[in-house]
Amino acid sequence: MRVLIAGGAGFIGSHLCDALLARGDEVIAVDNFISSRPANIEHLTDHERFLLLEQDVTDPLLIDGQLDAVMDLASPASPADFATIPLEILAVGSTGTKNLLDLAVIKQARFFLASTSEVYGDPLVHPQPESYWGNVSSIGPRSCYDEAKRFSEALTMAYVRVLGVQARIVRIFNTYGPRMRPDDGRVVGNFITQALRDEPITLFGDGSQTRSFCYVDDEVRGLIAVLDGHLTGPVNVGNPAEFTIRQLAELIVDITRSTSEIITVALPAEREGDPMQRCPDITLVSSSYGWAPTISLRDGLTKMIAAFRAELAL
Ligand code: UDP
Repeated sequence: MRVLIAGGAGFIGSHLCDALLARGDEVIAVDNFISSRPANIEHLTDHERFLLLEQDVTDPLLIDGQLDAVMDLASPASPADFATIPLEILAVGSTGTKNLLDLAVIKQARFFLASTSEVYGDPLVHPQPESYWGNVSSIGPRSCYDEAKRFSEALTMAYVRVLGVQARIVRIFNTYGPRMRPDDGRVVGNFITQALRDEPITLFGDGSQTRSFCYVDDEVRGLIAVLDGHLTGPVNVGNPAEFTIRQLAELIVDITRSTSEIITVALPAEREGDPMQRCPDITLVSSSYGWAPTISLRDGLTKMIAAFRAELAL
């Protein structure tokens, strides 16, 4: 296949480039590096089936030749970004997704949307099945991302209904692994960085809120199953093993053998509406595609910690 990956230099996007190239596909990565890093794809620069196009997908895309799939993974996704670049996030989730859908129409390519567990907001149903409509603030600090992704799902479905686009929608739950930016503000990177520096580990609130963390290799395998599969979606892809944020901190201290203290700090203002619990119901992806995560949180963290140690020279 010849596949365009918007956000191809991002954390998940770059691992997806690797996986598709490994199976023989040709990959065109499009990225404007707003929240991603050239280093994530540096090793691919000379690959004969890889091409990087430095571009913002909110500008129309002109691509030569045929495309079999257009994959939309272009969006900043850290709550820290929601405070600093909300306009860019809303633009990429609306105009950006529209440009990518239009490209899929022109090329008669399959369209793949990377949506998010954030469409469930602060969920009142637990774990979250795809049929749950969510509990989302349209005006809170997270709304730029949550509503942009809800809009991009709606836009995708309108293209399916009106223009007959062949679409795949995946809802990605918290994913972690090498190539996350240590300074991107998300919990796993923050805690590993703090632990490696023997600095206090900052639980926002009392640390009783939960997340379910999926290692990036498992996640990417799930994304490819959805891309290749028959369901328009949405399909949850995440690891249903659920942990409190305090448990995550304790596990990271244990693996790194850090002397860091685990402290509680007030929830920062930009974190208002922080979901109290999150866990994917993965019945659909398991029964349809036989996908299940295989990497435990301890094993995945061990790999990510090794990568962070090397990157931060700690
Ligand atoms: N969190 C925390 N300390 C940090 C960063 C995050 O306690 O230094 C918490 C945050 O309040 C949230 C959870 O960890 O409840 C996950 O945050 P993250 O930014 O990774 O992503 P989210 O799942 O909220 O999008």
